[in-house]
Amino acid sequence: MVHCPAHNDEKPSLAVSDKDGKVLIRCWAKCSQEAVIAALQERGLWNQPRPKTARRKVRVTEWRVAGYVHEKTEYGDGSKDFKWKREDGTYGLNGTALSSLPLYGADKLDGLPSDATVVITEGEKAADFLIKRQVPAVGTVTGANETPCADSLKALAAYNVILWPDADQAGRNHMERIAARLSEIGQNNI
Ligand SMILES: [Zn+2]
Repeated sequence: MVHCPAHNDEKPSLAVSDKDGKVLIRCWAKCSQEAVIAALQERGLWNQPRPKTARRKVRVTEWRVAGYVHEKTEYGDGSKDFKWKREDGTYGLNGTALSSLPLYGADKLDGLPSDATVVITEGEKAADFLIKRQVPAVGTVTGANETPCADSLKALAAYNVILWPDADQAGRNHMERIAARLSEIGQNNI
């Protein structure tokens, strides 16, 4: 029992309980639910569930990397999330480390002359943008906070490399770690 925020409540008359994770409220002084919730909202004490319409899926994009599918879901409220799944639709990477996945597009580099220049981007979308414009490109699939392993980066060993970071600090750090790892494997044409 707590003081009801919707009326001048001297003696606590608002019952608050939790039913299976759902907050139940009832003012014994007969304030309406709407009035109590509005008063709680004014005080920043009511976390509304995200309205369903706001999380309406507007687009799902899939990229294929080494037998896995990287699925990006964009929502009507501008949010997005990424998930990995297997070709059979099972979610997860089945224990495969993100950093050990090949670079997106690495399998398309075969046949480039060895003096070619390849751009590496953060993520598949930016790589697709370049590939569509006939610019040889690969994308990391690890997210900015992880780094492709040396084996994955060996796909770039034969070429000149341009690092194209996302325009944020995490993106710059991502590419700096990649540059360091590339020089570890003897790739210094960056
Ligand atoms: Zn009340």
